Amino acid sequence: MKYSQAFIPTLREVPSDAVIVSHRLMFRSGMIRKLGNGLFAYLPLGLRSFRKVEQIIREEMNAIGSLEIKPTVVVPGELWKESGRWDSMGEALLRLKNRLGLDFVVSPTAEEAFTSVVRDELSSYRQLPLSLYQINTKYRDEIRPRYGVMRGREFVMKDAYSYHTGDESLDEHYQAQGRAYRRIFKRCGLTVIPVKADSGAMGGTGSEEFMVESEVGDNTLLLCRVCDYSANVEKAECKLDYSPRFDINLAKGAASRTPSMEKIATPEVRTIEELCSFLKTGAKSFIKTLIYRALNVELDLSGAPGCGSLKQQKTAPGAPASYPEAFFAVAIRGDLDVNEIKLAAALKASEVTLAADADVRRITGAPVGFAGPAGLAAVPVIADFTVTGMNDAVTGALEKDLHYRHAAYGRDFEAWLIADLRTVRAGDHCPVCGGELYEKKGNELGHIFKLGNKYTRSMNVSYLDEEGKSRIPTMGCYGIGLDRTLASIIEEHHDDAGIIWPATVAPYHVIIIPIKYEGTVKTAADTLAAALEHAGIEVLLDDRNERPGVKFNDADLLGIPWRVVVGEKNLAAGKVEARRRSEKENRLLDLKEAADKLSGWIYGEIGELNSQC
Ligand code: ATP
Ligand code: MG
Repeated sequence: MKYSQAFIPTLREVPSDAVIVSHRLMFRSGMIRKLGNGLFAYLPLGLRSFRKVEQIIREEMNAIGSLEIKPTVVVPGELWKESGRWDSMGEALLRLKNRLGLDFVVSPTAEEAFTSVVRDELSSYRQLPLSLYQINTKYRDEIRPRYGVMRGREFVMKDAYSYHTGDESLDEHYQAQGRAYRRIFKRCGLTVIPVKADSGAMGGTGSEEFMVESEVGDNTLLLCRVCDYSANVEKAECKLDYSPRFDINLAKGAASRTPSMEKIATPEVRTIEELCSFLKTGAKSFIKTLIYRALNVELDLSGAPGCGSLKQQKTAPGAPASYPEAFFAVAIRGDLDVNEIKLAAALKASEVTLAADADVRRITGAPVGFAGPAGLAAVPVIADFTVTGMNDAVTGALEKDLHYRHAAYGRDFEAWLIADLRTVRAGDHCPVCGGELYEKKGNELGHIFKLGNKYTRSMNVSYLDEEGKSRIPTMGCYGIGLDRTLASIIEEHHDDAGIIWPATVAPYHVIIIPIKYEGTVKTAADTLAAALEHAGIEVLLDDRNERPGVKFNDADLLGIPWRVVVGEKNLAAGKVEARRRSEKENRLLDLKEAADKLSGWIYGEIGELNSQC
């Protein structure tokens, strides 16, 4: 390909919203242009690399027996109503009506579309397991699209969905997807950190995310310094640094040595910090109690304090009944923070948020700041494990300006539910080996997820088993964002001058720069390009009438793995000058051998990246 015909509009300046390297470099190198907020056009150079990432993903999906299909991007709203997500998905779901007034969605993900296809065709256990995928456009009305294609509104995802007769078969395919993901990222030259992730409230049973380290990452990861434990903070657990008493009799025994609980006046003291300085003790002696509002709670609350009048409802036919709204008091040791993802999972709720002040006053009978588990009857108390180990604590007394001291779990209050609710932090200890945990910021490139029967149940999918009994298949889903993967490759492979593409995903393998594209130099450059192309190497020939410095700068910016300079002086000795984008030294090559040498190096690098991991 001749540079002059390749439509590569490189730039020196970058738009002010391009704050991360990949966004700046994709812009400057002419890979992408912005159409609107979170909407990007790939230009020819960008699309070449994009297609290579796509092909790697396709090969690895095919290799594990997943089958590619191509559903539409615009999907009938009816399917989303069946699954219940028409209502629960919120503002990120782009809903639209056609001229007949029918509802549609622009797919943000495609559980419904795939499950609808499978539902229509599935009849017998013999058709399972079945794994299908697409590499297709998605739209999410992100509130704050940012960092270029890293978080766009429209993007391309590989999403696979698998259907199984049971957990064992699901687990087998889930593991195969995990291995395929590791190979995909290795082939793209990416260093990923697989982490344990939240599997949600809705029946998920396993979930792993593939993260890349990033200063601007939206995720906090906790990693062990000693073993290979790694988890998203949403899911991370830690070794307990106290003795929990899950047996209420043990708790009562420990409490028997504590003086009786008594009220103390704490005028104008509301926060844990204020209490600490007022009582001259540390936050670990307090029980922090927060009132939460939870939506679509699937736990059975019959018999739970204050829940007698709550009504259940079904969000979708076949879905379990849930409580549309319920309130809870969440108690945790004063130095810790509640992890709302863990809380939602423990409550089997679609969403949890701190209750409004008016609800707190109604439930606790006191202004905000005086909630406590002792004597609280209006809502169920959910206690973090830590609280069960506390037998001499300070806590709110449900009255303005009053706290209790000597409050003991098991004696003065009990929890309706005990769960691990704490947000794990750097410095906490690994739940596996006890080693110290540290934090990293990460960006999610891919996610594999055991869904269970959430969709197959609500959308009425069934098959007949060996005995002719009707059964619901279990399901997994597996996504990778292509745009984000591409941008992350640039984040990991660049220098001050530009991109440094791994050979597997480079838009071209070699850029040939004739110092002046005329005479013998032109002939030599053309001959070398033809020889390389004959060997299957992708060549960009910089035929522009530009100063060599401009051409060199553009070559560095575009990041093509090999640069070959053809100049009169070297050519007189039958030589050309080659340089690897990632190295500083030039190599003088015999023109005659150059094509062989270069293709050997390039195929070597591609082979290395593609080698099985
Ligand atoms: P995030 O937490 O970053 O919003 P997610 O958990 O909502 O992502 P999934 O639903 O798991 O994302 O989608 C699978 C993959 O799709 C993600 O791992 C990511 O690579 C990609 N992806 C999701 N949202 C976007 C987006 N707005 N722009 C680009 N890629 C995205
Ligand atoms: Mg995800």
